[in-house]
Amino acid sequence: MTDSIINRVSNIAYNIDTDEITLPKSIKIELASICNHKCTYCIVPKLKNTKHFISDEIFYKVISEVKRLKIPEIGLFHMGEGTLHPKFKSYISYVKKTYPECVIFITTNGILLDPLKYAVKNNIKSIKFSLNGYNKLSHLDVTGCDTFDLIIKNIQELIKYRNSIQSKTQISASSIYYNNSEQDSFSEYLDTLVDKHYYTQIYNHAAKIDNKFIDLSNNSKILKHLCELPCFGLYNLCHIKTTGDINLCRFGIDEEFTIGNIMNSNLEDIWFSEKANNLRNDSTSGKLDTCNKCIGINNGL
Ligand code: SF4
Repeated sequence: MTDSIINRVSNIAYNIDTDEITLPKSIKIELASICNHKCTYCIVPKLKNTKHFISDEIFYKVISEVKRLKIPEIGLFHMGEGTLHPKFKSYISYVKKTYPECVIFITTNGILLDPLKYAVKNNIKSIKFSLNGYNKLSHLDVTGCDTFDLIIKNIQELIKYRNSIQSKTQISASSIYYNNSEQDSFSEYLDTLVDKHYYTQIYNHAAKIDNKFIDLSNNSKILKHLCELPCFGLYNLCHIKTTGDINLCRFGIDEEFTIGNIMNSNLEDIWFSEKANNLRNDSTSGKLDTCNKCIGINNGL
C-alpha cells in the first residue's frame, strides 16, 4: 500500500471483476461498534447494538484466517471508532507479531492520541483522520462535539512524534466537500500538515440515513465511480463485525448483507457462499432495494 488510500480504493473500484470473484483484497475488523462523536451523517450513534467491542476469541480467529489466506491488508476499524477498544494497542502488537507482512491501516476521528502514537511507533502503514468540519463551528455542527481544536492538536503532535522516531506511518486526512472558501483555506492548511488530504464520498449508509443530512450539490470533488453499480465493495472488501458476523456491505449495518459468522465457518467458505454470490448478483442487477437507494447509485451522481 504505497499509494494513498483514496487512490488504492479508486483502483479497486475501477477494476471490478464480476465474473471471477477472488478472496477479498482487504478486511476491515470492527474493533468497536461505538463512537465518541455523534456525526449527523453517520448511522453509528443511532445504532442500538449491545456488543460494543470485539472479543479476543473473535479477533484472534479473524487474524488466523487472514494470515492463512494471505489477505494482504487489515483495517483495524469499521463503522465505529476502533481506538476506543481497550485492547487496541495489544491487538496491533498481536498482528505485528503473528502476521508481520500484513499491511495495517486505520481511519480515526483523532480524539484519542495515545493509541495513535502506539500505532505510529509500531509502523502501521497508514492512519487517516476523518475530518468533516473545517473550523470549530462546522465541526461541532457535523460531529455534535467540541473537539476540533483537540483533533488538530493531536494531528500536529502525532506528526511531530512520527518524524522524531522516523516512523514510516503515512498520516492523511479526508473530508466531506462543502464547497466554500473557508473549507478551501482549511484544506490548504491541511495540505501543509498531513502527507495527503483529499475529499471523499458522503454516503447515506446503506439508505439508513435521511438524505437531508447529505448535501451533494456542487460536490464536484468526490469520486463518482465509488457510487456506481456494481458496488466494488461487494466483490473486494470484507467487513467483520464485533459479533463475528461477516457483512458484505461497506456500511456493515444491514443484516441483509450478513453472509455468515467467522466463528462458525472458514472465511473463504462464507465469502464464496451461495448467499454472498446471490447478494452480489441481485445488487448488480438492480434487484436490491437497499442498494438502489444507496446514495450515489440512483441519486444522479
Ligand atoms: S447498500 Fe449496496 S450499493 Fe450501497 S455500499 Fe452497501 S452493498 Fe454497496
